[in-house]
Amino acid sequence: MAEVLVYVDHVDGAVRKPTLELLTLARRIGEPVAVHLGAGADAAAPVLAEYGAVKVLTADAPEFADYLVVPKVDALAAAYKAVSPAAVLVPSSAEGKEIAARLAVRIGSGIITDAVDLEAGDEGPVATQSVFAASYSTKSRVTTGTPVITVKPNSAAPEAAPAAGTVEQVAVTFGELSTGTKVVSRTPRESTGRPELTEAAIVVSGGRGVNGAENFPVIEALADSLGAAVGASRAAVDAGWYPHTNQVGQTGKSVSPQLYIAAGISGAIQHRAGMQTSKTIVAINKDAEAPIFELVDYGVVGDLFEVVPQLTDEVKSR
Ligand code: FAD
Repeated sequence: MAEVLVYVDHVDGAVRKPTLELLTLARRIGEPVAVHLGAGADAAAPVLAEYGAVKVLTADAPEFADYLVVPKVDALAAAYKAVSPAAVLVPSSAEGKEIAARLAVRIGSGIITDAVDLEAGDEGPVATQSVFAASYSTKSRVTTGTPVITVKPNSAAPEAAPAAGTVEQVAVTFGELSTGTKVVSRTPRESTGRPELTEAAIVVSGGRGVNGAENFPVIEALADSLGAAVGASRAAVDAGWYPHTNQVGQTGKSVSPQLYIAAGISGAIQHRAGMQTSKTIVAINKDAEAPIFELVDYGVVGDLFEVVPQLTDEVKSR
């Protein structure tokens, strides 16, 4: 069976959920071989095996700890050469997409970004993408070189492999790593304790209808009752009510959670572009004609300041 390279997204060996999703999808098209760069491979290996990795290629160097992309591409390209896989899968994060694009150029391959599904095809893996603000679903396959495919978080539910065993770790030998960039300082943001927006299973977003930064705790309370991430429309971000890092949409982040709740958001095409692939969409809007109601699974016509706290209380009471 053909081997499929899966780039492991991890924090010091703690494997992030998008990688487990990639391993699950990779099993549809071949045998997953995980590529773990940086510290923590020993901790990560059993988890990667549980989700179907048959081998873990490892490489460590101080450059990987600095969140620099090019050294990671150097090592991933070395792993690619060692394996000659049938495809390379990378999570569709900002970093993942840059790594995938640079790798595709290095190995002379075509690339498909932001896939939301993956299946085996007679002439190579076929990726589904959701395009033009999710107005169309397209299926594509790479026709040049080894397919490099980035997959959006939450595109597949992670499933443990039926016959997971122990996994062999193999160190990748790589040449000198590129050192064109150096990190001078790093300031961590204060953690909100909420899940990362693009990886969250549930996202609760507020828009202009929230009517001020001082009212966003209404949205946050619902998010916290559900263990959700908080998103915002561009109108809310541009007004300075919520940070740009939480913006959902064409010029913000693209999310695909199991449940997306939009409160006080009209549903402009640029907002839809970032959330329309969510599995279940709920909107709360006082205007029954708001375009968001065209794409929802459940809609509540009402004032968010009445509806959202009731919803929060109901969730908390369960
Ligand atoms: P509005 O369109 O003003 O809608 C507010 C909604 O709240 C209304 O439907 C109203 O009925 C409802 N409401 C008001 N009060 C209440 C209440 N008390 N209870 C319930 N409902 C209430 N937008 C994004 O979101 N993300 C992007 O990434 C993005 N990128 C863009 C890129 C470009 C190039 C351009 C041109 C625009 C972009 N936009 C983006 C902006 C987009 O076009 C819309 O202007 C924006 O999404 C509107 O945000 P909103 O829905 O919060 O505000």
